Amino acid sequence: MIVKKVALVFVLAVFVPSLVLAWLAVRSLRDQEFVLERQRSLLYQGVADSLADKANALLSEQQREFGRQVEALLADSKPLDIAKAFDARVHQSWPLAEVGFVVSLDGQVYSPDLFDRAEARRFRLENDKFLCSRETVAVYWNSPKGAINLSQLDQKETALAVQQPANTATYSGGGKVTKEQKVVRNVEPQQAQQRDDEQAYSKVAPAEAEFRRLVGDSTEGTVARFLQNKLNLMFWYRSSRDPQLVFGALVDLPALVQYLEPSIRAIPESLSEEICVALLDEYARPRVISPNSKFTANWKRPFVATEIGEALPHWEIGVYLVNPFRFSQSAYLLKLTLGLLIALLVLAIGVGGWLIVIDLKRQLALARQKTDFVSNVSHELKTPLTSIRMFSELLADGRVLDEEKQHSYLRIITAETARLTRLINNVLDFSRMERGEKKYHFAKCDLARVVRETFEGYRPQLEACGFKLECDLPEVPVFINGDRDALAQIVVNLVSNAEKYAGKRKDMRLEIRPQTQPLPHVELRVLDRGPGVPNGCEEKIFEQFYRAHDSLSSGIQGSGLGLTLARQIARAHGGDVVYEPREGGGSCFVLRLPLKATERVGVSE
Ligand code: ADP
Repeated sequence: MIVKKVALVFVLAVFVPSLVLAWLAVRSLRDQEFVLERQRSLLYQGVADSLADKANALLSEQQREFGRQVEALLADSKPLDIAKAFDARVHQSWPLAEVGFVVSLDGQVYSPDLFDRAEARRFRLENDKFLCSRETVAVYWNSPKGAINLSQLDQKETALAVQQPANTATYSGGGKVTKEQKVVRNVEPQQAQQRDDEQAYSKVAPAEAEFRRLVGDSTEGTVARFLQNKLNLMFWYRSSRDPQLVFGALVDLPALVQYLEPSIRAIPESLSEEICVALLDEYARPRVISPNSKFTANWKRPFVATEIGEALPHWEIGVYLVNPFRFSQSAYLLKLTLGLLIALLVLAIGVGGWLIVIDLKRQLALARQKTDFVSNVSHELKTPLTSIRMFSELLADGRVLDEEKQHSYLRIITAETARLTRLINNVLDFSRMERGEKKYHFAKCDLARVVRETFEGYRPQLEACGFKLECDLPEVPVFINGDRDALAQIVVNLVSNAEKYAGKRKDMRLEIRPQTQPLPHVELRVLDRGPGVPNGCEEKIFEQFYRAHDSLSSGIQGSGLGLTLARQIARAHGGDVVYEPREGGGSCFVLRLPLKATERVGVSE
């Protein structure tokens, strides 16, 4: 009952809280992993953002450079003269120009000449209508004041654009045009930094406009449009010398990529082992890969990505993990280690609790045995005291005149006082041993003599009780190194047990046998023909207070200390006491004590 209660308290007070703690630890572990991943994605997002900013800055720089080139050309000649040969001049002086063009705001194209280079002719065929403001097309528009989302400027024209899908961009994955003219991004970053819908849609949106409207009263800007699914990026510039003329250039994209490459490649050294950065075009094809150009991945699934903006619409800076499993591996390892640690701790708590319960059980059993011991000892004291008192009173009153009877009563009184002495000696010795105060006076002594003398003291009592006694002791001394009184106590305890547990066949035998195996030693055997020790109790009978035959059922009194003391004394002498069932029924208690070489000779003689 008490054990059950303690077990319940243990489960409620220790086990359940530790399980809850373990659960919390596992949860915080998961959160920790999430935080780590988040930190890393923020770091890499920062890299992508800064590279995208850098690319934008470089584009603006080139935009200004184009303005400078135009001004340089205009410095020497009249604007109209330059306008006619602008394509050839700018193509020569500025490496980023694929085709140079000049249009007036009233829709006249001065350059390039329709019958000039093949690129020039194609440019005219594709762009004439747009540049002369005779049609509106879907464009991405940027000016020094920043990106302008034209779709918000003119809702009407946007609606028109939806009805004219031929002009809308149809680059990779970008076919989906929603009512709000949202275009799906061509990459799907694994780490969503923003809201999901923001992440899925591009931040740049095309808007329908005619060229004159785009120019407005600005002096420079970029216009990007998709023609036959290919990006056309144009810079344009208006000089104060002739504001009616718009000078522009179709940018040579491979040359532009070459120009951007060194900046994209310059990622922080500390990160170059972990990540790879790529400049992706509108088809999510890598144009620049850094730092290792051999790196390959699913380019549409970067870890994080940032769009460059209206100047290079749907071009992205994508960041890829060099070893995508490294992070999950280290997270897994961390999780495994901590998980194992937690499991181990919970296991340790469980095992600890189990050991506590076992120990508690043992302590409870001991406490119960101690209580039994007190009642047993009281009983053992009471019985001899009662008979001593009774017989001494009879003798004192002078009522027993028969001399034979008087002798018999006196013998009983002597035997009972001996029993009392034995009991008190056992209890005192036990408490001394418990406190570690028991002292032995080792000296050379003859075991045969000790046994004989002790046993002879018992003989009259045993014979009076009808015991058949056999004593097979050697005539020669058996010298051992021991404490005479302690050894006598062992003999007394074993002989008195043989007397108590003799049963109906009152037969007792004592023998001393020297042995040579495994080491030279001497054996004292005390044998009886009683019921023997019940099976399974052969070792328990040596535990303190343990009684295999309890007083109630067997009617035999005892304290449960006799064999405990016998064994402790024997072990203090380097020997032991063990129980063996006797052949033909009964018990055999064997006291083994070590012999020294010289003593061995004496015994064998
Ligand atoms: P007790 O005072 O009960 O005799 P012991 O320590 O001397 O205490 O013995 C422990 C138990 O060993 C006894 O209670 C008894 O059950 C058992 N025992 C001891 N000697 C014998 C024996 N000769 N025959 C049968 N059982 C024995």
